[in-house]
Amino acid sequence: MPQEQGYWRYVEEKAVSLCQRYSYQRIDTPIMEAYDLFIRTVGEETDIVQKEMYLLEDRGGGGRITLRPEATAAVCRAYLEHGMHNLPQPVRLYSLSAPMFRYSRPQAGRLRQFHQLNVEAIGDADAAVDAEVIELAWRFFQELGVTGLSLQFNSIGDGRCRPEHLRRLKEYYSRHRSRLCPDCKGRLERNVLRLLDCKNESCQALAEEAPRSTDYLCDECQDHFLSLRRYLDIMELPAQANPKLVRGLDYYTRTVFEVQSPQEGAQSALGGGGRYDGLIQELGGKPTPGVGFAVGIERVIRYLKSLEIPSAEAPRPTAFVAYVTEDAKDEAVRLTSQLRGASINAVLATGGRSLKAQLKQADSIGAPYTLILGDEEVRSGTVVLRDMAQSTQESIPRDQVVERLS
Ligand code: AMP
Repeated sequence: MPQEQGYWRYVEEKAVSLCQRYSYQRIDTPIMEAYDLFIRTVGEETDIVQKEMYLLEDRGGGGRITLRPEATAAVCRAYLEHGMHNLPQPVRLYSLSAPMFRYSRPQAGRLRQFHQLNVEAIGDADAAVDAEVIELAWRFFQELGVTGLSLQFNSIGDGRCRPEHLRRLKEYYSRHRSRLCPDCKGRLERNVLRLLDCKNESCQALAEEAPRSTDYLCDECQDHFLSLRRYLDIMELPAQANPKLVRGLDYYTRTVFEVQSPQEGAQSALGGGGRYDGLIQELGGKPTPGVGFAVGIERVIRYLKSLEIPSAEAPRPTAFVAYVTEDAKDEAVRLTSQLRGASINAVLATGGRSLKAQLKQADSIGAPYTLILGDEEVRSGTVVLRDMAQSTQESIPRDQVVERLS
């Protein structure tokens, strides 16, 4: 809506300037993608694939397509299709205000069409790149002037060490099955990691005592995690290690992180991301590491409003152009056109109202000046310039108007 646009501009301008400062280049990928892309990457057993993805049958036997539910898999597809592995690595990419689609019961902070800022660094396994991406996410919120957020991170291991952690988790939760919520009873078989971030009270109590991924990391994942912690310390980021932090998508390996607002509930995550070292190989490419994050723009704006952080002002007209007679209206049309040509924001009175009504209109749109044309002004090549705040007016030559208003 128009009254929201100032917030969108504010958030988008910060995002662009920050991404440029970190050498990320913009990419826009299509809204429509092959349905199977996300099954292979996000994972068959995730909420996104099971309950949220839109499914469309293409015409002409073109197969199953979807409205993308997230960006990372799509950006990795583009990386592969456009041979970006031939560029210097890592390839740093971002996409902005990209619409994403997930079916759900719409509620505050959870929409069926929402928009994200996405940042991806593809082609480098160095933990310093994880730290760079986490710092970028955190700075984004800082530079928006947002306070009260927490930054949490964890390592969930990789294909070598995670199976052991999952086995221990399954064992642990099976022993306490009766205390799980109905959803988690189902997840226990399909996606046991997600039990750790269930919001149900009884499940949360169980998660406190559950086996921790960081206790099962292989040597390589442990080294990576220690390096990441060191870099985050050096960068003086207020990051807290949270052994219960997991994410809802299967492609993550090693690092995961989230930025959370203090607002309670499932909508508290303003942004999150992590490393996805197996994703590109899953799509048929050579093993290629990657790390990135996504921030939900609507959630950020909602939070900005709750903190009463003002948005950018909508552009207001400098001049309102009023006229007294039909002849003068032709001149008013010409003058308005000339002002706009000279980069001055001007609005022409319309609707054939009385001069008094036109001046009221000028007040209501907040233009600081009104230009008034009557038959006398048309004849003498002048115009009345009215200062709306002072309620004073003077007659000036037409050819001085642009200079006076610039
Ligand atoms: P995810 O890809 O699920 O990690 O989501 C990344 C970010 O996108 C979240 O932290 C939210 O800010 C935002 N987001 C995810 N789903 C929705 C939704 N249904 N409506 C609005 N924002 C969302």
